Amino acid sequence: MDQNARDLEILLDAGRIEARVRELASQISNDYRGLTPHLVGVLKGAWVFMADLIRQLSVDASVDFLGIQSYGPNTNSSGEVKITKDLDVSIAGRHVLVVEDILDTGHTYHYLEGVLAAHHPASLRLVTLLDKTSRRVIPVRANYVGFEIPNVFVVGYGLDYNQMYRRLPDVRILALAPSS
Ligand code: 5GP
Ligand code: MG
Repeated sequence: MDQNARDLEILLDAGRIEARVRELASQISNDYRGLTPHLVGVLKGAWVFMADLIRQLSVDASVDFLGIQSYGPNTNSSGEVKITKDLDVSIAGRHVLVVEDILDTGHTYHYLEGVLAAHHPASLRLVTLLDKTSRRVIPVRANYVGFEIPNVFVVGYGLDYNQMYRRLPDVRILALAPSS
């Protein structure tokens, strides 16, 4: 699948993403007023979103990253999740806000939620830029959602296909996802 990036249909353009990220940041800043949330970004897809989000927050926030792999080189979720980079600092007693690029089947966040909750954070919430609710297998919900999107495989704004397309400023549709 070597489609030229410019031929891919735009689902969300950079301007729309920027405006929505600003709204999410304002909501999060209000909810965490007086607290210092600890943002845990899920590598690698979420780092572009996280970089934009943190710059729009009006509360101070600390940052850590968790590396996970939930997909192989194809676009189907195996339901298997592997931690490739652990947290650097303890989250015990912290107000943890997990930052995800996209919620799909829910397998990844369901697994992460269990791992993180076991370390006794003061609170644990999730912000995801994109949410494919129609694909959900495990009923997980995000506290903050940027955009609900249909069942299509998207790339850009940090999201990849085989490490390609992360650099694109818009979210584009790569191909129709299989109907499973
Ligand atoms: P879940 O475990 O919820 O099925 O999948 C979550 C992960 O699958 C996301 O963090 C992301 O890495 C990957 N994923 C799911 N849908 C898409 C998509 O449309 N595009 C890309 N690039 N990754 C996706
Ligand atoms: Mg992800």
